[in-house]
Amino acid sequence: MSLTIVGSVAFDEIETPYGNSGRIIGGAGTYTALAASYFAEKMNLISVVGGDFPNNYLEMLRKHRIDTDGIQKIEGKKTFFWHGRYHKNMNIRDTLATELNVLGEFDPIIPKSYQDTEFLMLGNLLPTVQSKVISRLKKRPKLIVTDTMNFWMDTMMDDLLETIKLTDVLVINDEEARQLSGEDSLIKAAKKIRKLGPDYLIVKKGEHGALLFYGEKIFHAPALPLEDVYDPTGAGDSFAGGFIGYLTKTGDTSFDNMKRAVIIGSAMASFNVEAFGTRKLQFLPEEELRKRIKAFKDLVFFDIEDYSV
Ligand code: AMP
Repeated sequence: MSLTIVGSVAFDEIETPYGNSGRIIGGAGTYTALAASYFAEKMNLISVVGGDFPNNYLEMLRKHRIDTDGIQKIEGKKTFFWHGRYHKNMNIRDTLATELNVLGEFDPIIPKSYQDTEFLMLGNLLPTVQSKVISRLKKRPKLIVTDTMNFWMDTMMDDLLETIKLTDVLVINDEEARQLSGEDSLIKAAKKIRKLGPDYLIVKKGEHGALLFYGEKIFHAPALPLEDVYDPTGAGDSFAGGFIGYLTKTGDTSFDNMKRAVIIGSAMASFNVEAFGTRKLQFLPEEELRKRIKAFKDLVFFDIEDYSV
């Protein structure tokens, strides 16, 4: 099955208690595509960078079978830049800079070969760009998964609601679910959010895992308890990449398969936080991936006799 990903390709500067990354490659599209590359055969990436973006980064993406024809390079302009600093408790981060640069005026061009894409992952960037990509595809993909963040809820809520209306699976974190719905209870939030359009809602809860909502059903995937977290940046995006990559590989969008995809997403997020930036996602031996998925299985498996009173 074919997969197209839309998302920021960026320069990031990340500060954690373990150190400062300096200027490195980042962006939601980068993390998502790299994570998906361990499952999907081939990915298309739609994004924009400035003339300052090095070709060797694009080459690195291509080595992961990520087609970069959909990444526009605007000479004379600067690439999107994001700077974040994590507290000692790495669940808390301050955004020190968000410089949209070329992302602010991004007009996505869809290469002809992307037109028949079956799976569409709208990674985090301007909701207006996300909906433009949908409207520029001649045929609606089989599944549209959308990721977003509080930044767009604060600045472009009406546009974001338009994108959400067209979405099958919305992926957000718990605080964003509360902000979007105005509800403190995640159960109530899920009910309200699904009325906005998506049949499925995934709520990421950081070190507490993720919840998948569909109809009256709820599935909970744990996060793997890790001894050391070096850099949480991109955890959500690599979750989304693992999720959509697995669905693309299997071509199965049933609830049961989505449960598996949520576990795969959690596994990719758990790898991503073990090193700065995209380092871990760039070099992930298959054997390590297999063992990690098994670790998730062991973490949640238990045997119990039917319990009756
Ligand atoms: P996450 O840690 O999942 O929130 O993702 C962090 C990544 O998102 C970084 O690599 C940033 O470059 C990117 N990012 C941060 N803010 C934005 C934004 N407003 N739009 C698009 N991408 C962003």
